[in-house]
Amino acid sequence: MDSNVKSIGVLTSGGDAPGMNAAIRAVTRAAIFNGMRVFGIYRGYKGLISNEIEEFKTNSVSNIIQKGGTILKTARCEEFMTEAGRKTAYENMQRHGIDALVVIGGDGSLTGAGVFANEYNIPIVGLPGTIDNDLNGTDTTIGYDTALNTIMESMDKIRDTATSHERLFFVEVMGRNCGYLALNSAIASGAEAAIIPEISIEKDQLAELINQGFRKSKSSSMVLVTESEVTGGAMNLAERVKKEYPQYDVRVSILGHLQRGGSPTAQDRILASRMGVAAIQALLENQRNVMIGIRENEIDYVPFKRAIKKDREISPELLEVLKISSI
Ligand code: ADP
Repeated sequence: MDSNVKSIGVLTSGGDAPGMNAAIRAVTRAAIFNGMRVFGIYRGYKGLISNEIEEFKTNSVSNIIQKGGTILKTARCEEFMTEAGRKTAYENMQRHGIDALVVIGGDGSLTGAGVFANEYNIPIVGLPGTIDNDLNGTDTTIGYDTALNTIMESMDKIRDTATSHERLFFVEVMGRNCGYLALNSAIASGAEAAIIPEISIEKDQLAELINQGFRKSKSSSMVLVTESEVTGGAMNLAERVKKEYPQYDVRVSILGHLQRGGSPTAQDRILASRMGVAAIQALLENQRNVMIGIRENEIDYVPFKRAIKKDREISPELLEVLKISSI
């Protein structure tokens, strides 16, 4: 199919995620393979506005597939929220002759991409780069599997100390409004429960957990908590336990930024590579305003509007698996 896209820019934006480098590599190589020029844009939308743009060749992305973080750096950018900021960004694209963008980031970055694409009629393809797995239209996101593995390894270590002291541990993980990280980490680490935003809206998960009682033969309990206003976070829950259920010896562990780091797993490297190649394929097919998703192991094009809609449901099957396997 004939495409008008001869030159693309690639950027990473918002929260970093392991596998972003593998995605940058795949986008760059796939673009060059298809005869396009490629420009790396540093620091997300910030660099697009401040003109931190450099032409990439195939070796610009050598030796990065195994690295965490992003070689392009990432940033949050207030200025891109303004018309004036986006105008400067567009002018910089024109200056370099960039016809289209590949934006690797989370829901905020893809929201910004949608606004920019509509305003200036630019073809933009998004890749879901976030450890939170909170985008619609894709079974998983770049960085999610690595973060899950990191949390699982941390949980194995926390279990050693939790068991020795016979304690109740709340372990707080990222995820914002989405409980997938906490829920799947809980299953993978054999935790007692996961307190997640999707369920906390409906009921008091802490009261339910305590009232149903912990198994008598258990010498410790570990509960995953999503860092979120809805759950209140691990600290708040621990305070409540101290007040309302003083019989429990409670401790908190907040995993924080270590969840974002580390070398990406094979699954994330393969996902990022497939999605990067698919992004260029999408541009060749004159697709625009779509995020590359993966459904039942097949690549899919998901309109930005659907991808960023905040109505992703938590899987009832996973909830059931955790409930049954933790009795
Ligand atoms: P993430 O992509 O990880 O969700 P953020 O929510 O911080 O991260 O968004 C990253 C950036 O995307 C913001 O700093 C801003 O530059 C841009 N962005 C987000 N929402 C919009 C919007 N409505 N209009 C324009 N730009 C936006």
